[in-house]
Amino acid sequence: MKHNKLLYFILGTLATTLLGTFGTAHSTQPVQAKTKVQTTQIVKTKPTKYWVKPNVSNKAYAYTAKLGKKLFKLKTHQKVVFTSQYQRKIKVSGKYQTYRYVKGNNLKGWVKSSYLTKASSPTATTTTTTTPTTTETTTSVTNSSSSSTTTPVKTPVKDPAKSYTPDQGVSWASSNITYAFYPKMNNSEKALWYSAIQEWNSVNVVNLSETSDYNNANIKITNVASNSDGVDAHTVGISYIQRATTRNPAGFYAMKSAVIGILPEQAIKFNFDYAYTQFIAVHEMGHALGLAHSTDENDVMYPNEKDPYTQKITEADINTLKYLYNKQ
Ligand SMILES: [Zn+2]
Repeated sequence: MKHNKLLYFILGTLATTLLGTFGTAHSTQPVQAKTKVQTTQIVKTKPTKYWVKPNVSNKAYAYTAKLGKKLFKLKTHQKVVFTSQYQRKIKVSGKYQTYRYVKGNNLKGWVKSSYLTKASSPTATTTTTTTPTTTETTTSVTNSSSSSTTTPVKTPVKDPAKSYTPDQGVSWASSNITYAFYPKMNNSEKALWYSAIQEWNSVNVVNLSETSDYNNANIKITNVASNSDGVDAHTVGISYIQRATTRNPAGFYAMKSAVIGILPEQAIKFNFDYAYTQFIAVHEMGHALGLAHSTDENDVMYPNEKDPYTQKITEADINTLKYLYNKQ
């Protein structure tokens, strides 16, 4: 009997990169120290969006200006939409090659242009970010510009009469949370997440709304390659969570970023159908909202699903969500 493992990771305090905190991606050893590196002048170009080519080698990196140091492994950051407006040629072993200076998701560095491909520019539709008009007071995000008016931090207390699933001690500053899809996801992949999101929105604790701005969305939804960090042979869904060291108004650590995804190759391998995979999306979204794993197999936050076709978000899952967003 095959069970998919639903994994999640909390990356301790805020690191400088998003997913790079895993594994050994942060190599800083000099590359080919003996090679003489010659560079042409940096040329400014029109700002253009790029991402890393899907088939990029494991040995492809972003570097400092003269290829002195490796900054990050490209394969680990294939979901990032980078912006580049500078390029130069760098001569390595007698041959000039074009490099682009890319920035995105707190990452920056020089990347060989043949490793990059243009990201399709987001369609210029009138995407009005539907700001939900709930009675909820929109707190810290807007207030934080004036440093004197800090939102008071509450001390979270659980109601002894209620049951809860465990939490990560982390939540978003506001219950109005944005999400965005990785630009290459197709409509049927998105539909799977829309139904999962609908399920969380329908419990009326948080309001998840879509934005087209992937890099600045609170929750980033993507498809994950089966060779990604933290993935093993049984992983079908995954979430990567980063938190800040500061507390948000509800009294929890402030969620800094959440990247969640399904591994399509794994879902196919296990013959998971739409409904099954959609259940996994509900679970991963729970992590992105601050929920941890439950020990009760009925909860959606239980790490191995009991019955994905009938299982719904339970009272205990909802209580934890309310607790995390100060809505008890
Ligand atoms: Zn999980």
